[in-house]
Amino acid sequence: MENASEPNFVLHPPLEVSPYDQLQYRAITLRNSLDVLIASDPSSDKAAASLDLGVGSFCDPENLPGLAHFLEHMLFLGTKKYPDEDSYHKFLAENGGRGNAYTSHEHTNYHFEIIVTEKSCNEIDGKMPPFKEALDRFSQFFKAPLFTESATERELKAVHSEHQKNLQSDTRRKFQVSAALSNPKHPQSKFSTGSMESLRDVPKEKGIDTRAALLEFHRTYYSANLMKLCISGPHSLDVMQEWVCDLFSGIPNSQRENPCEVYRSIPSLREEDRGLMSMVESIKDIRHLEITWTTPEYATDVRARPGTYIADLLGDEGEGSILSLLKKWGWCDTLCSGLMEWNTYNVMSVQATLTAEGIDHIDEIVSVIYQYVRLIKKNGISLSRYEEEATLARNSFTFHEKIEPFQFVVSTSGSMHDLTPEEYISGLFLYKEYKEDLIRKVLDFITPNNGNIMIAGKFVSEKTVMKEKWYGTPYCVERIPNEKLEKWNSSACHSELHLPESNPFIPTEFDLLATPLPEGTRDTKGPNLVSKTELMEVYHKLDRSFKRPKACMIILIRTPVSYCSPLHVVLTHLLAFLIEDALMEYSYPANRAGFHYQVDQLSSGLQIFLKGYSHRIDVLLKAVVDKIASLDIDPVRFAMQKDNLQRSYQNFAKTQPYSRAMYNSSCLLEEPRWHVDDCLNALLDGRVTVERLKRHVEDIRSRAFVTALITGNILEDSAIAMTKTVQSVIKYAPAHDYEYTQRRIVQLPFRKEFFFRMDHTNLEDNNSAIEVLFQIGVEGDREQDVKLDLLSEILNKPCFHELRTVQQLGYLVFEGMRQFENVKVLYVIIQSTVADPDDLLDRIDKFLASARDEVFGCMTEENFEQYRGALEATKSQPDTSLHNETWRFWQEIVGDTLDFERKFEEVETLKSITKQDILEFYDRFIASDGKERRRIISQVYGNNHPLDKKRDISEPAFEVCDPYAFRRSFPLYPVDGLHDFEEKTNTTRKQLSGN
Ligand SMILES: [Zn+2]
Repeated sequence: MENASEPNFVLHPPLEVSPYDQLQYRAITLRNSLDVLIASDPSSDKAAASLDLGVGSFCDPENLPGLAHFLEHMLFLGTKKYPDEDSYHKFLAENGGRGNAYTSHEHTNYHFEIIVTEKSCNEIDGKMPPFKEALDRFSQFFKAPLFTESATERELKAVHSEHQKNLQSDTRRKFQVSAALSNPKHPQSKFSTGSMESLRDVPKEKGIDTRAALLEFHRTYYSANLMKLCISGPHSLDVMQEWVCDLFSGIPNSQRENPCEVYRSIPSLREEDRGLMSMVESIKDIRHLEITWTTPEYATDVRARPGTYIADLLGDEGEGSILSLLKKWGWCDTLCSGLMEWNTYNVMSVQATLTAEGIDHIDEIVSVIYQYVRLIKKNGISLSRYEEEATLARNSFTFHEKIEPFQFVVSTSGSMHDLTPEEYISGLFLYKEYKEDLIRKVLDFITPNNGNIMIAGKFVSEKTVMKEKWYGTPYCVERIPNEKLEKWNSSACHSELHLPESNPFIPTEFDLLATPLPEGTRDTKGPNLVSKTELMEVYHKLDRSFKRPKACMIILIRTPVSYCSPLHVVLTHLLAFLIEDALMEYSYPANRAGFHYQVDQLSSGLQIFLKGYSHRIDVLLKAVVDKIASLDIDPVRFAMQKDNLQRSYQNFAKTQPYSRAMYNSSCLLEEPRWHVDDCLNALLDGRVTVERLKRHVEDIRSRAFVTALITGNILEDSAIAMTKTVQSVIKYAPAHDYEYTQRRIVQLPFRKEFFFRMDHTNLEDNNSAIEVLFQIGVEGDREQDVKLDLLSEILNKPCFHELRTVQQLGYLVFEGMRQFENVKVLYVIIQSTVADPDDLLDRIDKFLASARDEVFGCMTEENFEQYRGALEATKSQPDTSLHNETWRFWQEIVGDTLDFERKFEEVETLKSITKQDILEFYDRFIASDGKERRRIISQVYGNNHPLDKKRDISEPAFEVCDPYAFRRSFPLYPVDGLHDFEEKTNTTRKQLSGN
């Protein structure tokens, strides 16, 4: 019985937040013990919520592995109040939103976001405000889900298809082998995702009713005291608090003790499960070494963070580190360390990728790791080192950029289990208390006798005599001999190993250089072209909106020699790898201090991206450019990176069929596009040598042009000066404007369709896939662009509902729009084990044909308005971070379109679009008799559906055999899209940007 005088909630003290944080927060506990965090951001048009249940697959019943995950799938499919299976997702879609969920060992997390156009908090015509209604629908999952018989039957297939997809994942296979090697009494040993076998067939034999078990699991564990709720929206704290009390106080509270407590007393690894070496055969050609140690729960103490302190040192990449030494010896490429956190214990790991030579030196590699552990024990534990970490963490807490509400609620609700309400925001960042004894205690677990070593690769295949039960992964395991353990326990520390020096990159100046705009106002203008010569152009925008002492820069070294043949692709790729490789030691402390950089190979040249604090970012830029100019190519590193590149090309054969289908579509449309197989051949034909690469660098320097975009807390003069540094250090000469590669897109003929079919190159994979791609046209015709966006939004959920939820063709079903350079397409993708690619095509066609009546036919004007309004709101959203804004500008710069106001102008166009317009658009481009329909059907045939069973194709459809020849037989779209020749000659290229 409810007691009327009982307060609805308990209010917690204010939260610890950064002075720069503009959001308001409130933490409360409802009378059913549900802890809630509410965040209010009136400047945002997005609202999001996430509920995290502190129970996951560890609590699966013994005889139903995967039940928690299956329940997570089932929860969305109808509740007592809203019984329609797809009504939740449909509601979210109508409001420009999305929803999802995930299950891990100890958590099940449900989340959604929507766009809030109408910020009114009152009911209008008896209808709740959208965010309240979304919360109402969401809260029903935890109060009265249906779990209907029919949905249970069908959704099992989605879970099974997910498992079929996972079968080819090396990460999951390795994980399941370590589960097999755990204490069978501890839940770590379970199979967590579920399959037909674990959730239907075996239970059936044993007379277990899976649906009844679902209901029982929900009744037992879906208790309010085990849940945390986090919501974020533009409404006031008071309003959202009232909604939460209203809607979530009714979740039952069985006052259940945290079920993780049950296995606190059970070790995840018994004495005999430690000190083992296992070998796991991989799908892809990898060479992984991993050492794991089980550490006690206090390793992740949120105030002292002893585990993180140790992992940071083990995973150091600077001079004197484990990685530095192993790289020098040519045995390792990368090495990292981290902690996996569970409630009652943790697992610390060191993971390394080995070189071909490294395989023969595993014992020595492990020995170096333990030498470093002893070094930490001896000299590495100090208050000053801890304080440096604490300073970096405090900087990142103070100056962190606004997080998207969706991301914010998901990560926060999960961590609320471990934090006090006051620390819900700060707790994940800050180091609060130096506890030397705790660090020492955790280190005591990092010993050879406690560690388990796992080697994964193809090279172990001759030794793997066992088969893992769920994934069928071949593996073997043996006890590490005592002599070896003793040696690792005592070998002397190598003289070149030493602890990191203090970090020179820690920024100390945080002043903002521009007068910040008042809160709630935004400078949405694009960057200015502030300098242009025959060697470089610089775009710059001084930030006044985000108000952080940070900067972003993207620098493209355009060169005609980046992509002119498969050999050139290989050379440019290798160069990018070697630059990053050579900079690793130097840049690691910068990375720790909050800077990030990346070098990428593009068809147009070499792209450098840097971001971080504006103070000292120029130092990092100079270092990167110095490396490019004076790259001293070490033959050992060269050979290793060449081997890495070769394996990444070869492993491409093992990518998932759906992404292979997408890749094949690109090969038909993009000119130029060198196929990965041709690049592999070029890599192997003997021409790729150190000498040749040196010549390639000279070739780049002989003809290049730099385009730079610099944004954030940096003045115009400094931006120009930094770009000039690039020029003066690299010392390159200009090329003719038209020498640079500009990728162009094939213009498909109307009323034709082209099939590209292949057998999946991974013979073990049962999955087949299809991408059906409708070419629409060049972007820039505002009306056409927004009609496509809107059509895609409207089709999205019905497509998923029909092809996945109802027909259960496979776990991966997507519909959307994407862009090849400046050309837009609408696509539908399915990956499936149950239907062959021809059948999939029929199903997609049938869905699209019925959509005209079933989706649009029964759509009311009001309903359509909702979709239109939601898209309008999405497009008028200002960018949430400097990073996002910078990349949006960059796309306009490299695409040579300079249409920086695009999305805001699209909003205006969108206002006048009607349902009739969308129907006409559909009839023109998508309908089977559409006058301008043209499409590519890219099919990949998996193991279950051999290619020789494919259906014959007849006109107006054609089968493509050679993508290169295909591209040559069609005209290409103009590079500049809608700017026609006359317009182009009458305006200079950069006129749009102004000053
Ligand atoms: Zn799932």
